[in-house]
Amino acid sequence: MPVRSKDNFLVFGSPLVGQEEIDEVVASMKSGWLGTGPKVARFESHFAAYTGAIHAAAFNSCTAALHLSLVALNLKPGDEVITTPLTFCASVNAIIHAGATPVLADVDPVTGNIDPECIRAKITERTRAILPVHYAGRACDMDAIMALAREYDLRVVEDCAHAIETRYKGRHAGTFGDFGCFSFYVTKNVVTGEGGMVVTRSEQDIQRIKVLGLHGMSADAWKRFSDEGYKHYMVVEAGFKYNMMDIQAAIGIHQLKRVEECLVRRREIWGMYDEAFADLPIGIPAPEEPDTRHARHLYTILVDEAECGVSRDRFLERMTKENIGVGVHYLSIPEHPYYQQNYGWKPEETPVATRIGRQTLSLPLSAKLTDQDAADVIQAVKQSLGA
Ligand SMILES: *Cc1c(COP(=O)(O)O)cnc(C)c1O
Repeated sequence: MPVRSKDNFLVFGSPLVGQEEIDEVVASMKSGWLGTGPKVARFESHFAAYTGAIHAAAFNSCTAALHLSLVALNLKPGDEVITTPLTFCASVNAIIHAGATPVLADVDPVTGNIDPECIRAKITERTRAILPVHYAGRACDMDAIMALAREYDLRVVEDCAHAIETRYKGRHAGTFGDFGCFSFYVTKNVVTGEGGMVVTRSEQDIQRIKVLGLHGMSADAWKRFSDEGYKHYMVVEAGFKYNMMDIQAAIGIHQLKRVEECLVRRREIWGMYDEAFADLPIGIPAPEEPDTRHARHLYTILVDEAECGVSRDRFLERMTKENIGVGVHYLSIPEHPYYQQNYGWKPEETPVATRIGRQTLSLPLSAKLTDQDAADVIQAVKQSLGA
C-alpha cells in the first residue's frame, strides 16, 4: 500500500490560494480592466514596501525580469556574466538573450550558493556582471559578492526567484545588486500564476525597464486606453511584451499580504522534516547562516547512492509511487546538451554543482500542507530509503 492513494496525490509546489485572491480576480473580471492597470501599480508599490526597495516594476515572469535587467546593463557581444551552474535554465538563458556570454562559477558544497572564490577565479577582462541566485531561499554571501563587484567594477543582478522573504544582515535579498528579480510562478512563495518583479535603486533604470517591458513605447503607454483619454505613444526602443496583467496582480496583492504567515507555516514543516530525517543517511539542508533569513522555498535532501543504497532517480520513482510529488532543483546547467554544444561546458568543470544536481531532490513544502501531509512525506521518505 502506498503512503497516499492515487486520487490523493500530494502535488509538489501547489500554492495556498485564499478567498481574497478569488474575490479580487472576480472583481477585475467584472470591472472589464483585465490588462495592465491600477492593480499592477498597487502590487508594485506593496512589493517595494515589503522588500524595502526604492523602485519595483512587475512583469509576466522572472525570466522577463532577468532579461530586462540584463538588457539594461547594455552588454555587448563578448561581454561575460558570471552565474551559478546550480540554477534554473532561465538564469543562463537571460544572459544569452541579452547578447552576452554566460560563465559558470561553482557553488559552495554546504549552501549550494555560488562560491565567491570561484567567481574570483572566473573574472577576466571581459567580465561585466555577476548573477547570483539565492538558492532554495538561502542568502548568498552578499558582502563577498559586492566586494568583488566593487573591486572589479562589475554590475550585479540578483536572481531572487526563491528569495522573496530572504534577508541578509537586515537587508532584503534583491536590494544589494543593481537589480533584484523575483518570480511569482505557481510553485514560488508568492504566486500570480505567472509573474515577476524587478527592484532597483535607480530611477533611470526602472523607467527604461518599464519602457522595454512594453514594446519600447514611451512611459505609461498602458494608460493609452484609460479614462484620461487617448494619448499618442512614441516607440523609443525595440522592446518586448512582458507586462503583467491586473488579473495577475489581483492574486499577488493578497498573496503578498500572507507572505509572512506562509513562511511561519513552512518553517514549521521544515522543522518536522529536520527532526524526522536527522538520523537517516540522507543529506539535509544546513541551518541558516547567522544574521540571515532563509525564505524556506525548497527543502532539498541529498541521496548519495553509496550511503543510501538507492540512487536519486530510483528514489524519485519510489516517492512518486507513494503518491508524493517531488522535484529536482537542479540538474546542473552543464548537464544539458544545448550548453555543452554551444559553450563546451562539461559537468566535471563545476564538480560541486554536478554532485548536488545528481543527488538532490525537493520535497513538498507549501504552506498548504497539513501536519498529516508532512507526516506522509516523512513516511514516504523512510519507505523509499528502506524498501
Ligand atoms: C523559477 C525560476 C526562474 C524563472 O521564474 P519564472 O517566473 O518562471 O520566469 C528563474 N530563476 C530561478 C532560480 C527560478 O527558480
